[in-house]
Amino acid sequence: MAIHLPNRQLFIDGEWRETVLKKRIPVINPATEQIIGDIPAATAEDVEIAVEAAKNAFSRNKGKDWSSASGAYRAKYLRAIAAKITERKSELGRLEAIDSGKPLEEALWDMDDVAGCFEYYADLAEGLDTKQKAPVSLPMETFKSFVLKEPLGVVALITPWNYPLLLATWKVAPALAAGCTAILKPSELASVTCLELGEVCREVGLPPGVLNILTGLGTEAGAPLASHPHVDKVAFTGSTATGSRIMASAAQMVKPVSMELGGKSPIIVFEDVDLDKAAEWTLFGCFWTNGQICSATSRLLVHESIASEFLDRLVKWTKKIKISDPFEEGCRLGPLVSGDQYDKILKFIAAAKSEGATILSGGDRPKHLNKGFFVEPTIIIDVTTSMQIWREEVFGPVLCVKTFSTEDEAIDLANDTHYGLGAAVISNDPERCDRVAKAFRSGIVWINCSQPCFCQAPWGGIKRSGFGRELGEWGLENYLSVKQVTQYI
Ligand code: NAD
Repeated sequence: MAIHLPNRQLFIDGEWRETVLKKRIPVINPATEQIIGDIPAATAEDVEIAVEAAKNAFSRNKGKDWSSASGAYRAKYLRAIAAKITERKSELGRLEAIDSGKPLEEALWDMDDVAGCFEYYADLAEGLDTKQKAPVSLPMETFKSFVLKEPLGVVALITPWNYPLLLATWKVAPALAAGCTAILKPSELASVTCLELGEVCREVGLPPGVLNILTGLGTEAGAPLASHPHVDKVAFTGSTATGSRIMASAAQMVKPVSMELGGKSPIIVFEDVDLDKAAEWTLFGCFWTNGQICSATSRLLVHESIASEFLDRLVKWTKKIKISDPFEEGCRLGPLVSGDQYDKILKFIAAAKSEGATILSGGDRPKHLNKGFFVEPTIIIDVTTSMQIWREEVFGPVLCVKTFSTEDEAIDLANDTHYGLGAAVISNDPERCDRVAKAFRSGIVWINCSQPCFCQAPWGGIKRSGFGRELGEWGLENYLSVKQVTQYI
């Protein structure tokens, strides 16, 4: 069935506006490599207009009082957005699948999570009303003090392409719940559903300027947005390299930032496991969304005594994964998002081979697909800890395997990385799971599973995986500042 890509402009101040320079970027269907439409390419000129709109919407002096309105008022809009997303779920899921290459079934689940996240932050926005003026206990009776939590201001939300609308929502929902006004800059590789969020906001009557959406290149739209003097905070999700660039420019204005960056997460499989269950989580943890997940558990550490049997199982099951156009029934792996990503992943695999690693399964384009950016799910053994494939984030369907003999060795191997986003342990021994969970140097730990994610629990990393936490109450705190009010009585 043909999918109609809406022809959108930038969403600024509650309406659709053409870019000042009238530039656009083609949208490519990664499963067919065909151009299926285009999106606006914003530049510094558009950033100026969007920041001004967000500033006006934030300020109570202009009578558009998003920042000073009650949490209950803001919650009403968040709930309306959630309801509209649910109403348009099927259409949005299809747009996400054709734009990003993820299987339609996954894209539809993402839309449920998007609606759930808006609902969740609507609840927290309401809670903010009752938590205001929290008293602080002081050692002197002649003074009394309380704390106000206030919205930080105008925030820039810069997001990647792997979960386009969902990761945008992880920022938009708490920012708006907190009373901030925002400019969202999604990835140029997958912006279509984020633009549709603009239409949703228009339909529910979100006050103009509260959320503005600028699509465009990182260098032309993202950089001027992040460094704009009237942007009070940058919340970024993307690669560690881009995060570092944004931090450098933010440092000049002492602008707060939060960073959700890359990863190279381990999964440890001990000898006491149910091999079937462990294999299922291992494959899911690395190949879900084609391995294009920041927290993908892409380094498998398996106990030497079960390694051979476990790998046989992984290879057998990997060969059964259905790789196809995202719209085909039963599709489990779609194409990678772009030609650049496809080239990058194949280069990583070639480099691993030339460094002496062995490709146990996959490693190439699937034979039955001669168009599209498809790469087979790949399992690599004979890896050393100095190899690029072991150390660097691949962000594709590539699982590297090493064996270990003791718990300490497994933990040392797991923690021997610049990154610290996720980590998983699979074992039937609860005490061992507890020990290993504490020993992992990461922001997220999974026990007997990999990748489950709930909007109620904090998300984020340590080391070069970033800092600050999204989701849960921590996600809301990202967009609030704390004001002390002390009175002499
Ligand atoms: P990227 O860094 O290339 O781009 C991310 C966003 O930054 C895009 O919107 C891009 O246009 C923008 N950008 C690029 N250069 C910029 C600049 N100089 N100034 C401002 N903005 C700029 O990342 P990507 O390829 O879109 O996403 C993949 C990366 O994201 C991976 O490293 C992955 O691990 C990471 N990621 C992290 C998380 C997390 O929660 N930690 C989640 C998803 C993805």
